[in-house]
Amino acid sequence: MNAHETAILPLPKDHQFALECSPAQIEFCNVTKLYGPVAAVKDLSLTVNGGEFLTILGPSGSGKTTTLMLLAGFETPDEGDIRISGKSVASVPSYRRDQGIVFQSYALFPHLSVRRNLEFPLEMRGMKVGERTKRVNRILERVHLSGFDGRMPSQLSGGQQQRVALARALIADPPILLLDEPLGALDRNLREQMQGEVKSLHKEFGITTVCVTHDQEEALTLSDRVVVMRAGRIVQVDTPEALYDRPATRFVATFLGEANILDNPSFNVESDTKPSAGAIAMIRPERIRVAPPTGAKQSASEERQSVSGIVNDMIYAGAVRKYHVRVGNNVLVVREHAASQQPIFRPGNEVRLDWLRSDVRFVTQ
Ligand code: ADP
Ligand code: MG
Repeated sequence: MNAHETAILPLPKDHQFALECSPAQIEFCNVTKLYGPVAAVKDLSLTVNGGEFLTILGPSGSGKTTTLMLLAGFETPDEGDIRISGKSVASVPSYRRDQGIVFQSYALFPHLSVRRNLEFPLEMRGMKVGERTKRVNRILERVHLSGFDGRMPSQLSGGQQQRVALARALIADPPILLLDEPLGALDRNLREQMQGEVKSLHKEFGITTVCVTHDQEEALTLSDRVVVMRAGRIVQVDTPEALYDRPATRFVATFLGEANILDNPSFNVESDTKPSAGAIAMIRPERIRVAPPTGAKQSASEERQSVSGIVNDMIYAGAVRKYHVRVGNNVLVVREHAASQQPIFRPGNEVRLDWLRSDVRFVTQ
């Protein structure tokens, strides 16, 4: 029996939410997808481990959605292969792939109630009414929507609709969950709340999840590993910590948070590591301390490098103060915690900046 045919077979009677099979491993092998002359995805190779939460992050047009659509079976590769649990799925249509999908636009059936929306995938699999009802009740409780089962999608808020979409994607225990900008339409607070929700659902279900987003914070918050894409290609794959702390390229450094790239600095950058040829020094704004011109001199030590500069401007942002400080050829961004004991500096003030030599990183162009 083909593994994908299980998608349309009835589920066992005592089927629980927890996965009974081991979560699927996904492999992209040299996948290219062309749209006319445009290669939306170029020679992409990637393995997603079973149970992993992997996020594809990149600017608009970098090929994120195309990658997900290839995995979902809505697009077919022009070159290369995609394997799920070791089996090629290149020629398996989407409806035969056992996967839950959540899109940015909730894609609930507008003419069906919440309960009918959730029952649909179970009905497709031939599950009996009694079991369907039990399952729907259980998942509604899990996404905090018990009592909403009779409502139509139009009678729910954006966050509630997205909860139903997540519940529907998970209800038949697929081994793979695909999310395309799932929280993109929500406002900031709700988004953070839903990020927590998605994370705990992933933990509970142990499902292999591939998520697509252009939101850096979301990628860092949710994922076991993040893939950074640019112009159809993978630039770097790493854990959120490694990606932020050790970006490989200038693009990754600046795309993930703020970075001071020290192009042609007027001072000699000291560091613990030896840069490779052509590498450029980079330091994160929160790694730099700002002090009055005399104060920080004392704090300069073997571990720290100290330079003087002039404040260009100060930006108040609630929990942090951000300074732009001119140091020779460069304007450095410094992020200081609002609770810092340092005085607040104003444009034109002379300051000293200092940082740990071990906090200097090197990136390639
Ligand atoms: P992202 O999701 O990262 O914004 P996409 O995967 O949607 O990027 O698109 C990658 C590239 O492929 C873009 O240049 C886009 O214009 C192009 N593209 C995507 N879908 C199509 C399509 N159906 N027809 C033609 N070009 C497309
Ligand atoms: Mg997209």
